[in-house]
Amino acid sequence: MLAGHISRSDAQNFSLIPLHFEAASFDTAISFTILGAGIIGVSTAWHLLERGHEVTLVDRQSDAALETSFANAAQISVSYCEPWANKDAPLKTLKWMFSDESPLLFRPQLDWAQWRWGLQFLAQCNDAAFERNVAQLVALGSYSHNALKAVVAATGIDYHRLERGIAHYYTDQKSFDGAAEAAAVMQRFGVKRRVVSRNELLAIEPALSAFADRIVGGTYTQSDESGDARSFTQQLAALCGQRGARLMFGHDIERLDSDGHEIREVRVRDRQSGIARVLKADAFVVACGSYTTPLLKTVGLSVPIYPGKGYSATLPLLKPAQAPSVSMIDDQLKIAVSRLGNQLRVAGTIELGGFDLTLDTPLAKKRCEMLVRRIEQVFPGVADTRTPEQGGDPQFWCGLRPATPTNIPLIGRLPLKNLWINAGHGTLGWTHGAGSGLALAELISGERPAMAFGFHGIDAPVRSSRKGQTPHLQATPPSQRA
Ligand SMILES: Cc1cc2nc3c(=O)[nH]c(=O)nc-3n(C[C@H](O)[C@H](O)[C@H](O)COP(=O)(O)OP(=O)(O)OC[C@H]3O[C@@H](n4cnc5c(N)ncnc54)[C@H](O)[C@@H]3O)c2cc1C
Repeated sequence: MLAGHISRSDAQNFSLIPLHFEAASFDTAISFTILGAGIIGVSTAWHLLERGHEVTLVDRQSDAALETSFANAAQISVSYCEPWANKDAPLKTLKWMFSDESPLLFRPQLDWAQWRWGLQFLAQCNDAAFERNVAQLVALGSYSHNALKAVVAATGIDYHRLERGIAHYYTDQKSFDGAAEAAAVMQRFGVKRRVVSRNELLAIEPALSAFADRIVGGTYTQSDESGDARSFTQQLAALCGQRGARLMFGHDIERLDSDGHEIREVRVRDRQSGIARVLKADAFVVACGSYTTPLLKTVGLSVPIYPGKGYSATLPLLKPAQAPSVSMIDDQLKIAVSRLGNQLRVAGTIELGGFDLTLDTPLAKKRCEMLVRRIEQVFPGVADTRTPEQGGDPQFWCGLRPATPTNIPLIGRLPLKNLWINAGHGTLGWTHGAGSGLALAELISGERPAMAFGFHGIDAPVRSSRKGQTPHLQATPPSQRA
């Protein structure tokens, strides 16, 4: 049994319902309503359709992937998956609290959920937890990479995919000295990350040559890749529609209603007409990213998912021939750069300060400007880094990473018998998207996904104020469904 998301102290404080994995096979197709059409919800929808189930996909936006899956750093980063929580994180976080440009900014709120999350995070800041969490993240990452390749092969979706690997460059000798140790940890879990000299790095990605005198070395993993999560997700959602899924965009999910044992219905409201609707199904999957937490509160369930705000800037390329095609991680600023066709995407930084999606505050502006400034330093003249006032057209964006204290997503069952969760993918939802959808569809179908991963409510105890149910679903005939 692998480590779950609830610490031992939680286990003593809350009523726990140990649910054990049971094979459940369905003779007839059952109906699923999937709440949330980001990469995770859409991927879940796709794999449930593949297994012959009926699917309704609900989202408040007018299309899929218009929230956190919209403009992320584009990396399929199986190998660079270290969790935020490590033994050095508490001190660094404290130090960083006083800089607007720090990679991780804790902005204290009068919000118990934030402090509780912070305490759970602190409990993960040790070597044992770090290794345990890395093991699961790598396992899900490589399973998911295979799942992504299979979906691409089956559908032919084109999303500016580049299979050129990810390179991590260092500008500081002390940090680079630690790179070998970090690579060794990853290698223990089967990841082929290798340390490379500056010259090797320049051979791998000549676009770094203008910045070469600042680089002291790097690491590289050839098997990683990059591509546009929004484009992929929207095309997959459209294919779900073509395969018969009911796509309900433009609907706010207001609440879940349960009878204490199972979800009876979900209440949604059409954003345009204001008309309220009630959705019934045999089973429900919550995949609402950071908003999973408030939604589950409507049925008294608590999950440790808290928003981690991040920013990106997408810049038109001026010199495509000199732009990188290997995806990058900048160690000093902890930001990532990926090429998407004729654009360069730079993204990063984390702010733990609630559900704040503003882009026009002084802090947000500073963080966005920092991203663009770094692109000009590293790849001078390659992309249009002018501000709108100077005639440029940088596309700034921010999103809320659905973060768990371990960085491990919650994939599995909740303690209401027809309610499943696929959320909390934090910084790696694009990387883990295809596999998380496949894994949940497999669990629902009574199959055990082929990876060493602790599934929520199945391998680990879950927390609830309710009495638990065995994982068994009854199919109702289609005629009885609303
Ligand atoms: C700056 C940044 C860079 C990143 N870079 C990478 C990267 O390079 N690689 C990587 O693997 N990951 C990356 N990520 C993480 C990744 O983008 C997320 O983990 C992933 O998008 C989460 O997907 P999701 O489907 O869970 O959430 P979302 O994409 O947010 O989907 C949830 C959906 O639920 C809907 N929803 C929520 N609440 C309601 C409601 N009440 N009613 C109706 N609809 C609702 C939303 O509209 C949304 O469409 C990055 C994230 C950020 C912010």
